[in-house]
Amino acid sequence: MADFKEARARMVDRQIAWRGVGDDHVLRAMRSVPREAFVPESMRVFAYDDAPLPIGEGQTISQPYVVALMIEAAALRPGERALEIGTGSGYAAAVMAEITGQVFTIERLGGLADAARRRLTELGYANVEVRIGDGTLGLPEAAPFDVIIAAAAGPEVPAAWKGQLAAGGRIVMPVGSHCSQDLIRLTRREDGGFDKVSLGDVRFVPLLGAQGWRDPR
Ligand code: SAH
Repeated sequence: MADFKEARARMVDRQIAWRGVGDDHVLRAMRSVPREAFVPESMRVFAYDDAPLPIGEGQTISQPYVVALMIEAAALRPGERALEIGTGSGYAAAVMAEITGQVFTIERLGGLADAARRRLTELGYANVEVRIGDGTLGLPEAAPFDVIIAAAAGPEVPAAWKGQLAAGGRIVMPVGSHCSQDLIRLTRREDGGFDKVSLGDVRFVPLLGAQGWRDPR
């Protein structure tokens, strides 16, 4: 346990703060969430490595730095309403839940969603609501959101998400082809228009669904 705690503190210093993430909310959250609890038993020794890790069903838990970068880019603040697309292990949702009390997360694969829900409950993240479904459609019944973060990459920003974003709200999402993408942030202006900023090259698993890539199932 103590080893994980030390490894976690080192991870935040060397992989995240050192690379320029300075948002105190994000750094504090990343220092709190036990990443080892979100990876398969056999992967625990690698939990604080500077890399994504397999979590089953062909999916991955994102590299810690990428999780920090995306939440910082979204400028998530206490009290805001957040939606994550692509629950996976539930790790990023837990980091977001350390910052705000209202986190919704959607996963298309029922097995991963159920495991994430169980894990989040055991760890005491009662403020995260895990849904199974096609996240490209957003979550109309819980909208509007201040922040929408996608952990999977699509060809373009789903229109549904733009429609469910509050004025001043931010969408952070990897957009591009299957093998290379640009991480972008869209901010909704008061007049309803959107400002776009490019945050750099990334590589994510595909966003599969009605407003993403075609779902083979
Ligand atoms: N945030 C996760 C990383 C998840 S990887 C973590 O911290 O562990 C991306 C996830 O997006 C995968 O689990 C994949 O199944 C899911 N996904 C892909 N398309 C989706 C869609 N349309 N709706 C919901 N989840 C989707």
